Amino acid sequence: MDYHKILAEINEEVSHLIGKGKVADYIPELAKVKKDKFAIYLLTLDGKSYETGNSQELFSIQSISKVFMLALMISKIGKRVYKRVDVEPSGDPFNSLVQLEHENGIPRNPFINSGALVITDMMLSHFENPKEEMLRFVRSLAGDDKIFYNEAVAQSELRTGFKNAAMVNLMKSFGNIKNEIEDVLELYCYCCSIEMSCCQLAKAFRVFANHGKGVVDTRQYISKSQFKRITAIMLTCGFYDEAGEFAFQVGLPGKSGVGGGIAAIMPGDYSIVVWSPGLNENGNSLVGMKALELFTTKTGSSIF
Ligand code: GLU
Repeated sequence: MDYHKILAEINEEVSHLIGKGKVADYIPELAKVKKDKFAIYLLTLDGKSYETGNSQELFSIQSISKVFMLALMISKIGKRVYKRVDVEPSGDPFNSLVQLEHENGIPRNPFINSGALVITDMMLSHFENPKEEMLRFVRSLAGDDKIFYNEAVAQSELRTGFKNAAMVNLMKSFGNIKNEIEDVLELYCYCCSIEMSCCQLAKAFRVFANHGKGVVDTRQYISKSQFKRITAIMLTCGFYDEAGEFAFQVGLPGKSGVGGGIAAIMPGDYSIVVWSPGLNENGNSLVGMKALELFTTKTGSSIF
């Protein structure tokens, strides 16, 4: 497969879309990001890499961190995680409160905000220093110590995350939040604020493409079966209320974030990360989705 040529073609074919869409300006610090960015980084399991665009530039991974948070807690308490958060697609926006009240404060899945807030609560209960633990875990997956939180982004979201605050309060009223509300919100915003490049993210997602085997052999503490489940949740819940559309157009498990990144995997074959900050109306990178659709179409690779 001539991946160099395919990435160059994609770059050309999406160029008229770059700059379209809307940046996530509900987090004031993210409103400053320029929309004219585009990058792809592809990492195959035989160790080869291919890239185009600003693939070494750091961006806010936002909800892509929810995959790492889930994996971290699975590594600590295994399937008990799923007692407090379900695994069904929500069909609602990522920050919706609607289902939570009907469903007694049990979030639909760990990849919407309410679900990740419950995972955050678990992190606070299990670690002496969850902020450090999270960074250590992500760095170990990526095999890269130069991964950090962005203070300004975290503080910016903390000041304006009123819906997240409403969710934590509602879940606390149902007994599904054990720690202090302020602590949950703070840790959650920090996890979302992690900055990584397409290259670093592709390295961190390699382990998911390889059933637990990566830079660090996570199979020691996350079983192959648990990896299967995390990947299944990526496919069914990784793209807000557009998970069906992503499976239909692209056909890979993955996770997006409102920073404009999308990380996806072809199990047994590769991890691929795209970044372009302009979002569509569902909060997914507009160019990123198109680029991945072109990639799986041109390469004929998809899990289906
Ligand atoms: N920090 C963002 C929020 O809670 C994450 C949203 C996302 O990337 O889906 O609104």
